[in-house]
Amino acid sequence: MYRTHTCGELRLADKGKKVTLSGWVQKSRKLGGMTFIDLRDRYGITQLVAEADSPAGAAASELGREYVIKASGEVLERESKNAKMPTGDIEIRLESIEILNRSSVPPFTIEEQSDGGEDLRAKYRYLDLRRPPLQRALALRHRLAHEVRNYLDAQGFMEIETPCLIKSTPEGARDFVVPSRMNPGTFYALPQSPQTFKQLLMVAGYDRYFQIVRCFRDEDLRADRQPEFTQIDCEMSFVEQEDVLSTFEGMMRQMFKNALGVDIPNPLPRMSWYDAMDKYGSDKPDIRFGMEIHEVSELVKGCGFGVFDESAYIGAIAVPGAAEYTRKQLDELTEWVKRPQVGAKGLVYVKLNADGSIKSSVDKFYGPEKLQEVAASCGAATGDLLLLMCGDKRKTQNRLGVLRIEMGNRLGLRNPEVFAPLWIVDFPLLEWSEEDGRFYAMHHPFTAPKPEHEKWFYSDAKEDLERVCANAYDFVLNGTELGGGSIRIHNADMQKRMFEVLGIGPEEAEYKFGFIINAFKFGAPPHGGLAFGFDRVCALFGGQETIRDYIAFPKNNQGRDVMIDSPSRIDDSQMEELFLSSTAKA
Ligand code: ASP
Repeated sequence: MYRTHTCGELRLADKGKKVTLSGWVQKSRKLGGMTFIDLRDRYGITQLVAEADSPAGAAASELGREYVIKASGEVLERESKNAKMPTGDIEIRLESIEILNRSSVPPFTIEEQSDGGEDLRAKYRYLDLRRPPLQRALALRHRLAHEVRNYLDAQGFMEIETPCLIKSTPEGARDFVVPSRMNPGTFYALPQSPQTFKQLLMVAGYDRYFQIVRCFRDEDLRADRQPEFTQIDCEMSFVEQEDVLSTFEGMMRQMFKNALGVDIPNPLPRMSWYDAMDKYGSDKPDIRFGMEIHEVSELVKGCGFGVFDESAYIGAIAVPGAAEYTRKQLDELTEWVKRPQVGAKGLVYVKLNADGSIKSSVDKFYGPEKLQEVAASCGAATGDLLLLMCGDKRKTQNRLGVLRIEMGNRLGLRNPEVFAPLWIVDFPLLEWSEEDGRFYAMHHPFTAPKPEHEKWFYSDAKEDLERVCANAYDFVLNGTELGGGSIRIHNADMQKRMFEVLGIGPEEAEYKFGFIINAFKFGAPPHGGLAFGFDRVCALFGGQETIRDYIAFPKNNQGRDVMIDSPSRIDDSQMEELFLSSTAKA
């Protein structure tokens, strides 16, 4: 028998027991005539003690870091207890040690905080995974997946798998493709999501479907994305938006309660997409703090300040307690908003000093009374700093939104242990692209217009189409979109119209999505659903921003798995078999 207990299990109440533990040697040190060994497994660490002249003593002196051993002995009460360790009241006086496997010296320390750099740890991921923070992350992931399955099963959902070797799906990213050996010159696409399959399952009558499923999107790996990621993918028939929102609010509520012991509001707040853009400059607002955006165009135009007079929109945020910002800090902030990532041309400030005086960068054009009026309209009080930007309405709101988040960070208003979830609803159905001179689906092309907006959907006027809203919704937590979905089109003619609006010709629509248009001719029920980004759900629940720690074997920023060294070249014979030729040099 390798073990009677785990390394995290024994307590003072076990005193006197004869036990056997197996695990990895975290460290081993000699003190006087004794060898002290910290033995680790994923449950914890237990201290072992071997006397030099005992049979265990000889083996103990041979041990190195990460050796795998089996050790037997008696549980004793420790003389110097360690209150920081759950097993810190006891130690095992060893009678025997068996070395099960030796280990090379690990390239970094395997402890709570490692001395290894990110690249090194990625190369030896299996060693990094021995560290407690990663073990906690994966344990949380497991717990959350378990809660999802429990909840959805209780609600009558069936977990159904859908294929990975498919045809292009409509999420709007680039596909990963797989060449087909048996069908020369043709390719499968890996699913960007199971969107079309889950809708086909609704046509097939499986009215409550879910799947914890891998999705693949060949995107440039900006900020914390992975080329393959996991979704909690769901679809329901005979539902309206309300049914979907209440079902999945319930799921989230259970996940928060059972995994974190946190109660989230019931019902969750909802905000229309338009309000989110106007007040937060973002469709994923962080509502843990205020500092909302206010339009001040009416108040500040026509006072002779050319920059404002010529702007379509002027907006402001009131930063609480920041009137103390020095000239130097304000200059630095102005440079910050001019960075390409924010893209503002400049920043106007108004300081509402504690002594009641007002100081602004536009004193020449606006007297204190006017500035006071502007400040009041933004809800600013003495001691606050007002920051203004101008330009195109949505772009300016967006920049103010980015600035708002930055100020929230600087002021410590974004505590990762505070959770402020909400739904964003009433998204526009379509998004006009100036660059391409065409509409794109804001969510995806299977999202239905709101029934009361159908009249505009069938109009050819751009202004009408821009007005169409969808019963589409996003679940947002702390400034991050965790999920989204919509009520779908379930009628073949409406689906055809959608492709027409998106400039997808009948032939292309038939070639790419003929199967679903066809299925809709055979009694498709009204349906809708959503998907959550599971990796991100885990990270946010864990109070972290990066999803990588919550994935056992993630890829790096270049989409590479440096541990297995992939992607990599394949043999010429394999290339030939797949009818591929390549001029690219790896
Ligand atoms: N398939 C969508 C996505 O991946 C989610 C949905 O509409 O259900 O974003």
